[in-house]
Amino acid sequence: MKTITEKKQGVYTFGAKTADGNRNMKNLLGGKGANLAEMSRIGIPVPPGFTITTEVCTQYNQEGKKATIARIEEEVRAAIAGIEATMGTTFGDNQNPLLLSVRSGARVSMPGMMDTVLNLGLNDDSLQGIIQMTGNERFAWDSYRRFIQMYSGVVLGLKPETKQDLDPFEEIIDHLKDKRGILHDTQFSVQDLKDLVYDFKDIVRKRSGQEFPTDPWDQLWRAILAVFDSWNGERAVYYRKMNGYPEDWGTAVNVQAMVFGNMGEDSGTGVCFTRDAGSGENKFNGEYLINAQGEDVVAGVRTPQQITLLGSKRWAQLAQVTEEERKEKYPSLEELMPVSYRELFEYQRILENHYQDMQDMEFTIQKGKLWILQTRNGKRTGFAMVKIAMDLLKEGLIDKETALLRIDPPKLDELLHPVFDPEALKEAEVVAQGLPASPGAATGQIVFFADEAAKYKYSILVRVETSPEDVEGMHLAKGIVTARGGMTSHAAVVARGMGKCCVSGAGALKIDYKNRTLYAGGHEYHEGDWISINGSTGNILDGKVATREPELSGEFAEVMELADSFARMEVRTNADNPRDAAVARSFGARGIGLTRTEHMFFEVDRIKAMREMILADTVKGRKQALRELLPMQRSDFEGIFRAMEGLPVTIRLLDPPLHEFVPHQLATQKELAEDLHISLASVKSKVAELEEFNPMLGHRGCRLGNTYPEITEMQTRAILEAALNLKKEGITTRPEIMIPLVGTVEEFTQQKAIIDQTASDVFKRRKDTVEYLVGTMVEVPRAALLADRIAEHAEFFSFGTNDLTQMTFGYSRDDSGKFLPVYLAKGILKEDPFEVLDQEGVGQLVKMGTERGRQTRSHLKVGICGEHGGEPSSVEFCHRIGLDYVSCSPYRVPIARVAAAQAVIRG
Ligand code: ADP
Ligand code: MG
Ligand code: MG
Repeated sequence: MKTITEKKQGVYTFGAKTADGNRNMKNLLGGKGANLAEMSRIGIPVPPGFTITTEVCTQYNQEGKKATIARIEEEVRAAIAGIEATMGTTFGDNQNPLLLSVRSGARVSMPGMMDTVLNLGLNDDSLQGIIQMTGNERFAWDSYRRFIQMYSGVVLGLKPETKQDLDPFEEIIDHLKDKRGILHDTQFSVQDLKDLVYDFKDIVRKRSGQEFPTDPWDQLWRAILAVFDSWNGERAVYYRKMNGYPEDWGTAVNVQAMVFGNMGEDSGTGVCFTRDAGSGENKFNGEYLINAQGEDVVAGVRTPQQITLLGSKRWAQLAQVTEEERKEKYPSLEELMPVSYRELFEYQRILENHYQDMQDMEFTIQKGKLWILQTRNGKRTGFAMVKIAMDLLKEGLIDKETALLRIDPPKLDELLHPVFDPEALKEAEVVAQGLPASPGAATGQIVFFADEAAKYKYSILVRVETSPEDVEGMHLAKGIVTARGGMTSHAAVVARGMGKCCVSGAGALKIDYKNRTLYAGGHEYHEGDWISINGSTGNILDGKVATREPELSGEFAEVMELADSFARMEVRTNADNPRDAAVARSFGARGIGLTRTEHMFFEVDRIKAMREMILADTVKGRKQALRELLPMQRSDFEGIFRAMEGLPVTIRLLDPPLHEFVPHQLATQKELAEDLHISLASVKSKVAELEEFNPMLGHRGCRLGNTYPEITEMQTRAILEAALNLKKEGITTRPEIMIPLVGTVEEFTQQKAIIDQTASDVFKRRKDTVEYLVGTMVEVPRAALLADRIAEHAEFFSFGTNDLTQMTFGYSRDDSGKFLPVYLAKGILKEDPFEVLDQEGVGQLVKMGTERGRQTRSHLKVGICGEHGGEPSSVEFCHRIGLDYVSCSPYRVPIARVAAAQAVIRG
């Protein structure tokens, strides 16, 4: 007989301090399977079992059921025999039955997205065996009813029919609780549990037209395949798409001996974290339930209790429970089972040191014996991500490089969201108190159903509890409130993963789904009413509460400093006004990479002069209008230069097609005609004249400055006069004038001649000078091809990757909504090239343009200023090809700074 380790088809065993797999095999064994194997190896008590690989899942999707079973049947049987030997029980036996859990587990954790079945192997006969073995009839029937419910949902697909419906099994449970006048299912008598089993089987019969399957092997195979199927379930597919996980990853299946937390008062189950997943504080914490199994804690069936005494006291304070009541009704595990607590504390310490990261663990205590069922790097908020990385660094557990690589740059965005204004908070009325499940501030309009979260721009999803079906809506909502569930409830865990503000377990809330009404603190709220929630304190507040800008401080500032010590590239910002410039500077921007001057012309007081300029028939008329615009432009630039004192500021000359500035509606056209004392007809004809078939490729960019040199003249004058004015105040400026949309050398040189001529005029008149550069935005493919010749004259390049992408693909960005989504869905494109730089195609132009430019001007300064400047993979690319800087919107500056450092470390 061949042994399993010899020739593997797809089954890896673990348990009893050995394992075929290890932590590095996540792609094959899934995260859960790889870590179960790793824990076995390092001597953590894990119930024995085996993992069926993700490869088998992929094969199953291609080959189907029969071939899959044939492929792995022998190995599965051998692995079950292994579990039987360790446990001293037999699968399918009636006297001494082995019960199993069948658990999903993809390579990344997808909380609650896929399915798990517990207590598999039970039927009317093996039930008797369990009763004989344990002498605990109540436990046996409790496990049986749980099994039928879970198996029916996961494998037989018996789920609620509409969103307002309760789960048919939950409905029976609730009904029975009402009848008995009890609150918790731990209060059911043996007879109650027997009745539940009877009723559950009846539902199965009625709904599926079949008897509940009794053969354990049949149960097992169907459960395994159902877990594979859940990878393509609606929820999982949505979650995968949201996170960009490819379909071909597949899920592994873990089959494992059951351990029982529902054997009585000396048993229980729980979830714990080695550090605080919300704030990142180094505090062991978690929740547990006595006499409970599996998902009870996460699903919020009963109010879970705190594991540590400290946590328990804090919880009691928030829940307004007195110390006497807390001790009696909600003791911590630390108080209730001190021996198991100490053991658990020791294992969490070992596991965190072993994985060198915050761990999220599941455990079960069976009659005083502690088992660990899962560990993984815990999901955390952006705040916790930053704090934990810096703390682990300071504790010496990880080095600087690792600390920086622990930062997921886009997640820094969470630290840049507005926070409640402390003054406004003092005034605000607290209408209810829940648990601070995921920090942050959120204000929005109430919705009661996840699929209605998109109804309002700012919505707060208010639920009794959330379930995996709600994930899409949770994503769309600004914040989440639940009446039930603790810090490890589904809502809390998922919200923290998304970095979404969440208050859970606000028990005082009364939610009436039917009438879409929320009762809280004497108020009655309907759908669409405004509330605010504070995920850092658990407060639920009446109405809208004012917010203010966050700041870069504490560990966040430390991470940024660390990033700068590694990064080679600088990060600049795209900013059109002093406010944005100042924000970006406070986030660490080292200058402005792109100031768009046209935005300034759209403001009410300027648009008139602008239109006058456009409508003028003569150069004289145009110059007259430009003279009016000059002082306004000059003061714009003064503001921006002031905010960026000492740092380079790249200003792009007028870029968009002129027809964007003229009115297209009759009423405004009339107004304009009156203002300018010309006829409506002539306004109309001028507007019609400006109409273009393809404005994207029309009269715009440097084509404007080349046809109307006086515009370039005015803008240059405004820039340099502003710089001179500030120089008088002792403020250093570093203007960089950028000519857009250049495609030929002459387009550039003729514009540059005007700029230089204007500069010398200004300097002569003012009897003073400032240094300035003249460069170009490379955004027409031809400019990248001729970069060496353009660089003979241009003092810097900035790749305008928005237009460059547009022109290289030949996709109009404004029209791409019609086909890009289809292309992405069909896999014709892997990513939206306007979000993630197309390294393969557009990237070649950027690389080549840089190289050619530097052939003629070896120290040519090169950057990019498209949307891509704040997208981590694009930033990494820019680093690799040797750019000097990336420029992005102010709120992406910290993201780009970390990405620039990570590029160095990975390189
Ligand atoms: P998820 O990935 O959704 O967390 P899990 O596979 O971890 O699903 O299982 C769901 C619940 O069942 C968890 O609370 C887990 O601890 C519990 N569970 C899984 N396997 C066993 C087992 N062998 N014995 C006891 N409880 C188990
Ligand atoms: Mg789990
Ligand atoms: Mg452009």
